[in-house]
Amino acid sequence: MNNMKTRFAPSPTGYLHIGGARTALFNYVYAKHNGGKFVLRIEDTDFERSEKKFEDDIIESLKWLSIVPDNEIIFQSERLDIYRSYIDKLLKEGKAYYCFCSKELIEEDRNKLIAENKKPMYIGRCRELKLNEALLGTPHVIRFKVDRSPGAVTGFKDLIRKQNISVSNNEIDDFVLVREDGIPTYNLAVVIDDALTEITHIIRGDDHVSNTPKQIMLYNALGFNVPEFAHVSMILGSDGKRLSKRHGATSVNQYKQEGFLPEALVNYLIRLGWSHGNDEIFSIEELIQYFDLKNISKSAAIFNTEKLLWLNSHYIKSKDPFVLIDSINDISGDLESPLNINIKTASLVDSLKSRVKTLVELRQKLDFFVNKTIDYKKDILSEFNFNENDLLFLKSFKEFVDKLEDGIFNCGSIDLNNETDKENILETLKNSIESIKNEFNGFLSKNNWTMKEKAMIIRLAFVGEKVSPPIYEIIFALGKERCVQRIDKFYDYIINIKR
Ligand code: GLU
Repeated sequence: MNNMKTRFAPSPTGYLHIGGARTALFNYVYAKHNGGKFVLRIEDTDFERSEKKFEDDIIESLKWLSIVPDNEIIFQSERLDIYRSYIDKLLKEGKAYYCFCSKELIEEDRNKLIAENKKPMYIGRCRELKLNEALLGTPHVIRFKVDRSPGAVTGFKDLIRKQNISVSNNEIDDFVLVREDGIPTYNLAVVIDDALTEITHIIRGDDHVSNTPKQIMLYNALGFNVPEFAHVSMILGSDGKRLSKRHGATSVNQYKQEGFLPEALVNYLIRLGWSHGNDEIFSIEELIQYFDLKNISKSAAIFNTEKLLWLNSHYIKSKDPFVLIDSINDISGDLESPLNINIKTASLVDSLKSRVKTLVELRQKLDFFVNKTIDYKKDILSEFNFNENDLLFLKSFKEFVDKLEDGIFNCGSIDLNNETDKENILETLKNSIESIKNEFNGFLSKNNWTMKEKAMIIRLAFVGEKVSPPIYEIIFALGKERCVQRIDKFYDYIINIKR
């Protein structure tokens, strides 16, 4: 279906929540799967609760996830005149009416209904009111005149629930179309926009199921084609309760800041409710190829952080180290100095990327390299009992490092946009590390030491941690001067704790 069009219509009253991101993703891949278009519309008519910072966050987060709309973003706040013309039409045709009832009066009527064990609704006092122009100067709203013919029902077939959902019109209030401040309500604006932008499929959270019959009434009243509807069940936390801040990060940007890659989040979100056999890993192209609403589950999805971490480590592992450096720099903000984009950083990132689950973890593991000096942590070093032999080793190790040829550490400069340059540099890097390895192995065997015996003390001296990238790579990345400084510092540290 080539004229298929879906949309995502967030209200900028909060940061982009992962539930919203999943809805956007479902709409995006569904449209693309069918060769259709995806529209982004910002529903910002709630002037009190909408904020620019939320709007920016939503747009940025979608971009980060590569959920790119095909249209220029539509802002409802710029379309008030359009809504007005449709309101006038409904009023003229007697399908909507002015309501002058005060809040107190409405409340009183509702309470009476409750006392009679009936559903509390607006009882329609103004439905047949002869309009006196003078009244328009007093506070009022505009309500939709729900068809009250006996037995009237409004229904639709839900594409995810795969069932007809219908409601007796008597269950539906004469709902408000225009508020007292003259601003159209969500139900009115959403229908006009979806119809005018020719949206064919509306995929949204199931918190909107009760709005759908009202919207269908409006489509019919305005003479618009009724689109298809699909309501996605919500996301629950591991305790079975609706996902909220209590469960940890809930906004897309928070996940970014915590070091998740967009590919991992997209892959994770799509699997929250949708399946394709037992497959777990999907590129966006594969999603577009396979995605279908019929494979979305009707039941609520449970958020599982472990699985998200697993996917994240999968994607981190598969990335080019230079891309990872960019992604890390993109999240570190003002807090940390950006990583230098050079071959030394890249070589460390490449060795570390298979050992971490997030970019934040990866960044932390680079501290030893980024920071000029090192602070040894007592809780780690107190596990070890260093002796005279260790001091002797450090002395001769320092001499060994000091004697390494300066040329080994020099790997030239690199133009990252130049592939040949990149390849040459990688070759030099491999050779340098190979040379350090050979020299180091020679040094060990000359002294009858083994790597197994000595690796830990070197790791502790250079990195301050029990795990680290391969030792030859650390020596290469730190360079001679910093290696020597750290051996000295570690030596002093041992002497001090021995005293
Ligand atoms: N602005 C509404 C919301 O954010 C849109 C709902 C819809 O998709 O119709 O919930």
